[in-house]
Amino acid sequence: MSNGRSTGYGKPPVGPVKININLNDLEDVVCPNCDNSIFSLSFVRMKKLGVVQSPNNKPMILKVEVAVCSKCESVFQVAEDKLIPIT
Ligand SMILES: [Zn+2]
Repeated sequence: MSNGRSTGYGKPPVGPVKININLNDLEDVVCPNCDNSIFSLSFVRMKKLGVVQSPNNKPMILKVEVAVCSKCESVFQVAEDKLIPIT
């Protein structure tokens, strides 16, 4: 005989397909010097653009985002998929 408790158990309802990215599944970008994966991004490197390189023919300052390793304090320029050491 059935006890009528077939609902409320089992798997959660299946909703619309969502792309779930689990950060733990992704590869860490690590510091080439010390393998640390935590960086500070609160710094910029500034480059002077001369009249020749400047799009509007005026000298200007170009800001480049840099990452600083929280452990060994090495400074890197953030490129598309890698860190470029700044010496
Ligand atoms: Zn480091």
